[in-house]
Amino acid sequence: MTLDWISPADRLQALPPYVFARLDELKARAREQGLDLIDLGMGNPDGATPQPVVEAAIAAVQNSANHGYPPFEGTASFRKTITNWYRRRYHVELDPNSEALPLLGSKEGLTHLAIAYINPGDLVLVPSPAYPAHFRGPAIAGGKIHSIILKPENDWVIDLGTIPDAVAEQAKILYFNYPSNPTGATAPREFFKDIVAFARKFQILLVHDLCYAELAFDGYEPTSLLEIPGGKEIGVEFHTLSKTYNMAGWRVGFVVGNSRIIQGLRTLKTNLDYGIFAAIQTAAETALQLPDRYLLEVQERYRTRRDFLINGLAELGWNVPKPLATMYLWVPCPPGIGSTDFALNVLQQTGVVVTPGNAFGIGGEGYVRVSLIADCDRLGEALRRLKQANIHF
Ligand SMILES: *Cc1c(COP(=O)(O)O)cnc(C)c1O
Repeated sequence: MTLDWISPADRLQALPPYVFARLDELKARAREQGLDLIDLGMGNPDGATPQPVVEAAIAAVQNSANHGYPPFEGTASFRKTITNWYRRRYHVELDPNSEALPLLGSKEGLTHLAIAYINPGDLVLVPSPAYPAHFRGPAIAGGKIHSIILKPENDWVIDLGTIPDAVAEQAKILYFNYPSNPTGATAPREFFKDIVAFARKFQILLVHDLCYAELAFDGYEPTSLLEIPGGKEIGVEFHTLSKTYNMAGWRVGFVVGNSRIIQGLRTLKTNLDYGIFAAIQTAAETALQLPDRYLLEVQERYRTRRDFLINGLAELGWNVPKPLATMYLWVPCPPGIGSTDFALNVLQQTGVVVTPGNAFGIGGEGYVRVSLIADCDRLGEALRRLKQANIHF
């Protein structure tokens, strides 16, 4: 049976094309040939989850009270830990019952929020380049996406002035993310005030993804939307434990902010999933309460890699700006070559995997994203191969 009489729902057809196909194919072939790939393509942290978190999880798994269905809305204890963390980190007061909701990773929540709030044809503002869930979620929901093209001359910060009033008046939701994946850009506090004023003026729900809340360097402290006066009235903010705490495989994150918006997401999720294994919520509580020493260690690890790779690339003639946060470098391709071709070239000639910028939307064309997910020995090997292959400007 070929089942050629059935095809996926229209909402799947609406998804933008998957640009990794050729890259995946080449990666698979290189692996078959036994080539030593250096994969700097994914956003998957390479380190182990901190030992106290692993131990808390083991103890929680041993406790049979955790073996049943967890509460839909997350354990009271995890929600309380989230709001305590928020108070400590941002001096923002949140109600653990209505203004915080644990998620099966933030990607899940970002996508389901779109399904909970976007009707087919609704207009959604999404920067380009952006983290794919920010436009794929709205696309699955049938939303019409207006891309806000980001520019290097604005340091990849949204220029609200380029959004026509007629578009802003129709828009229902705006997704944004600073510090940014993929560009590594940060936005000044003033920008957050401006975007809150913009959203209030045009009645647009703000969805801020603060995935890199703790991965910042050189004294930079990322801003929470909820710290800004009026921010909680008009928005929600997504967080994850995946990156800071090397917990990408555990699937745990949370959303905080406007209670009405969170209620809509909770209602949808009550119909889709049963929440997070309670033992994992206990582990996440331990992570959010780790001593600052742990944060300083992880920040130092990425800062060292960032500086090592930027200096090495500079010796090869590449001028790569130094991001104040995230675990990525956003690297311009040599003139005259597109993102996909350049990433394929680099892979074929060196076995180094980088992500073509156009995977994050048309605004990422002409760049590749390099993840700092290998130690300096491996990054040094990647640099050696790039030099040998004569890949430079
Ligand atoms: C990695 C990443 C996520 C996904 O986080 P999970 O909690 O693991 O789903 C979300 N947003 C951005 C910007 C990311 O880089």
